[in-house]
Amino acid sequence: LKGGTCPLTEQWEIYVAEKKRRGHKKTLYDHSASERENIIADCGGRSFVSNQVNNWVFRKLVYEYEKMTNLSKPLRGELDSHFPIVTGHIEKTLTSADDTRKALVRYPDGTGVECVSIPSDKRVTFCISTMAGCPGRCLFCASGKHGFIRNLSRGEMLSQYLLLSESINDYPANTVLMGSGEPLLNFDETRGFLFILNDQKLADLGARRITVSTIGIPEGIIRLAEEELQFEIAFSLHHPDEKQRRKLIPLSRKYPLAAVIEALLVYRRKTNRVPTFEYCLLEGINDTLQCAHKTARLAKRVRAKVNLIPYNTFCDDFRPPDRDTVFTFRGILEQEGVTATIRRQRGADIDAACGQLAGRR
Ligand code: SAH
Repeated sequence: LKGGTCPLTEQWEIYVAEKKRRGHKKTLYDHSASERENIIADCGGRSFVSNQVNNWVFRKLVYEYEKMTNLSKPLRGELDSHFPIVTGHIEKTLTSADDTRKALVRYPDGTGVECVSIPSDKRVTFCISTMAGCPGRCLFCASGKHGFIRNLSRGEMLSQYLLLSESINDYPANTVLMGSGEPLLNFDETRGFLFILNDQKLADLGARRITVSTIGIPEGIIRLAEEELQFEIAFSLHHPDEKQRRKLIPLSRKYPLAAVIEALLVYRRKTNRVPTFEYCLLEGINDTLQCAHKTARLAKRVRAKVNLIPYNTFCDDFRPPDRDTVFTFRGILEQEGVTATIRRQRGADIDAACGQLAGRR
């Protein structure tokens, strides 16, 4: 697709036919900035059109080419048939009593994922899925219950973001990659999406307003650190003893805790961000005083803060601890000099809280 070539060459037709056969096309934002410029040039657009499209999408909540009135009609048609901005649609939305809104996004190939918009005061946070299903298979989480389905592309992640924006008629102040999937095992597409979010010409969200949550993939953490951007990182610890942790998070067997801690130290050094440990409190399993002390020790090694998440119920194998236990756990962390917060439960009445996203019909 170098400047000047007609998009309707034979090869191009084969490419498009193949995409159609597979049930989904790449979106415009699955392509890099220079590719987008070439695509637009090939479809007959002038050099400034790429910026005009960005403005419609990221400033005016308009994702349909036909509404982009400053683009010529033939150009709109050409782009629309080959490079949609959004892929998939919201099949179902549930709104919680606290205004948290969960959307089931269905992609053209039939895959469904969930994403959530979480308002607090005047700011909204979006929670985006990076995979359909999840290979993590954490015992207490709904996302991996049926295993891994497939990776999402950056354009598919962006589609969740844009569809949610449309549904609340606003863009979010923060975005967290805490929906279904392990972002760092879909590294390239996740990275691409992070850059779309962070790009000043696009979503223009500061890196500190974007959080990547991971079960701890050392190589992925280091690769992300090498970008030297200040994305927030959250590490799902959930148990300070490696053996017990492996039971709770089967996938963590492949990634020794010591290596994760080393990687987080690199992340801290390169980005100057304070990592967060996420800790889902499960009654009788990881809520003991000993666990609290050990967690404090690990947190101090990386100078991490700890975010305690009382278990959000999705199956009866676990229960959240009572309030006192949660506060005692936090008290121990604080006594040891570790900053600890308790995550407020949002959207539980519609199964939109952490660990409750699955993508069911
Ligand atoms: N795979 C990544 C991204 C998912 S983020 C990760 O594991 O970090 C979702 C966060 O919610 C993780 O910290 C996850 O462990 C936590 N979580 C999962 N199930 C939960 C549940 N039932 N209750 C509370 N938190 C849960």
